[in-house]
Amino acid sequence: MQAGREQTIRYGGGDQAERPVGRSVKRGLLGRCPHCGEGRLFRAFLKPVDKCSVCGEDLHHQRADDLPAYLVIVVVGHVLMTGYLLTDMVFPFSPWVHLAIWSPLAVLAALVTIQPIKGGVIGLQWACRMHGFGGEDDHSVDAGRGGPLE
Ligand SMILES: [Zn+2]
Repeated sequence: MQAGREQTIRYGGGDQAERPVGRSVKRGLLGRCPHCGEGRLFRAFLKPVDKCSVCGEDLHHQRADDLPAYLVIVVVGHVLMTGYLLTDMVFPFSPWVHLAIWSPLAVLAALVTIQPIKGGVIGLQWACRMHGFGGEDDHSVDAGRGGPLE
């Protein structure tokens, strides 16, 4: 791989246009369609649109499932635990005061980050042509891999 060139993943099936992973994830993080970067990715808080309103890209193939929640736990957990430990070194509050400070912050941080992270996961799946994003039928792609229940 050349220095400075973004990694692109190619798989068989569907159109062969390049889908840079970094660009797709970034567009998803911003709540935009990973294909065109213009259309909205979500129609509700965590409900992605079925189709991009600008370019018509099918986005119903996404299967973000639990990955966004796991990533939120990892990111928010590390940030808040660092904040807690640093605060505890400077201000030796009682555990109840720390609980009163960090519990609401954890809930707020999780709510703020879950949608962008889910968008990033959808962008990653689109770039990797997962779950039918490559143009194959959803069910044939997932057959034998423990795909969705019918
Ligand atoms: Zn689009």
